[in-house]
Amino acid sequence: MRALLLCGFVFAGVASYAACGGDSGNTPQGDADATTDGASIDDSSNVSDGALPPEDGESAFDGAITDGGIGDAKMSDAKAADADAGIDTSLCPFDPKTKAAVCPPYTKPAVFFIPHQDDETIGMAAAIAEHVKAGRQVFLELMTDGQSSKTRLQLDDGKTDALHAGAHVYALTTKQFSDARVLEFTDAAMRLGVTGIRLNGIKDGTLAAADVKTRIDWWRVKSDKTLSLKGTASGDASYTHHDSPPGHPDHNAIWDALVASKYDDVRGYLVYVNASGAAAATPNQTIDLGTAECAAKTSVATAYKLWQPASSRYAIGYHSVGDLFANATTKCKEYVVLPPP
Ligand SMILES: [Zn+2]
Ligand SMILES: [Zn+2]
Repeated sequence: MRALLLCGFVFAGVASYAACGGDSGNTPQGDADATTDGASIDDSSNVSDGALPPEDGESAFDGAITDGGIGDAKMSDAKAADADAGIDTSLCPFDPKTKAAVCPPYTKPAVFFIPHQDDETIGMAAAIAEHVKAGRQVFLELMTDGQSSKTRLQLDDGKTDALHAGAHVYALTTKQFSDARVLEFTDAAMRLGVTGIRLNGIKDGTLAAADVKTRIDWWRVKSDKTLSLKGTASGDASYTHHDSPPGHPDHNAIWDALVASKYDDVRGYLVYVNASGAAAATPNQTIDLGTAECAAKTSVATAYKLWQPASSRYAIGYHSVGDLFANATTKCKEYVVLPPP
């Protein structure tokens, strides 16, 4: 077990995914340029865990998934209940391609809690890809609707920028804007090859740890001890619109819930640490992505760069936090935070 961990932790916390198992690129290549305007609002955190030996089933970062949080007896009861009563499929994630519900039983599920559309790509794309590559079922729980971004108003300000042809002449309602962000998120999820996504639709900026706990509890009942729980972490860099406390409150709410779960296999990822000039955050580990992993991450990021208004694609991610995308796809690092001991 120690030997496996070493491949994820080379030299005092600096690790490389590649060192543990090669690249994870399974997505088309994309470009990654920087962006121009910068109104921002959300983005998200990051990270990953080291590559996982397929036969092991757990990532190096995941380390020991010992005893998950739920007893076998309780689990059996829960599954029996599902079989008897039929499971409420509305609570299951769904396949981003077919939209079909993906309900239990699950195979080595890894669940990533994402505050806002784009956080998964900026902060955790390589980590997510590694879990997929390891043969796990990977799920993304998008917690908020992402409606609070100032980019919504920017898209109607009549100006132009280097991201695309044509001016900003699109007056979107908050619902239309949120739906457009979900299109970007779903595109990214498909590029990442995840098994399922769930859209929780909580109002951006109001996420509470209790909201996250509801879903953590659901997963713990529906999964076995192979469950892995990941999400954004507290301790992220401050960013333009939220100076105090550091980090975005929605990101912090996820971490609060993950830590409070006291589940054995929990990891957090920083996002805003990618901001240009951001005060240094203090991750427990910094992962240096290999060339192929970086290329794959960059490709996933193109989901947030597509400008195609006729199809409700407005490059919202790059308008909102272009500097985070630029740094995340050029510095190519992911930043891991561990729960307190
Ligand atoms: Zn965010
Ligand atoms: Zn623009």
